[in-house]
Amino acid sequence: MSFGAAASAHRGRRPAPDSLCPCGRRAFGSCCGPVLAGVPAETPEDLMRSRYTAFALGDARHLADTWFPATRPDEVSVDAATTWLGLEVLRSETSADGRSGRVTFRARWSDTGTRDQGVLEEDSRFVRRAGRWYYADAL
Ligand SMILES: [Zn+2]
Repeated sequence: MSFGAAASAHRGRRPAPDSLCPCGRRAFGSCCGPVLAGVPAETPEDLMRSRYTAFALGDARHLADTWFPATRPDEVSVDAATTWLGLEVLRSETSADGRSGRVTFRARWSDTGTRDQGVLEEDSRFVRRAGRWYYADAL
């Protein structure tokens, strides 16, 4: 269980546009749906939410596409045994120059094999280059 790791890249599944987004904010079609389809995220929080949703849906390609190249692993995968149960954004901010940002969040998970459950709390850092936000790393 982690927000990193190795292996396959695929597009995952997609909820209906009017169903609640896996990130829990609002309808998928006006939340993470467009970002997963390639529309640039407007804020670090929007990108972070889309990456959580990509983990929830098994979309390793979106995770790779939105990972800053300098810190991206050679292969990006989604652990099929991990089910993501909910997201809570605790704090998000964008730097004054608009080139970096931070998002602190909690994500609840369970492991379908071991039935373990837990909460991942992470302080993620993001950078913006050429109009696009990228995940850089976590503190
Ligand atoms: Zn969302």
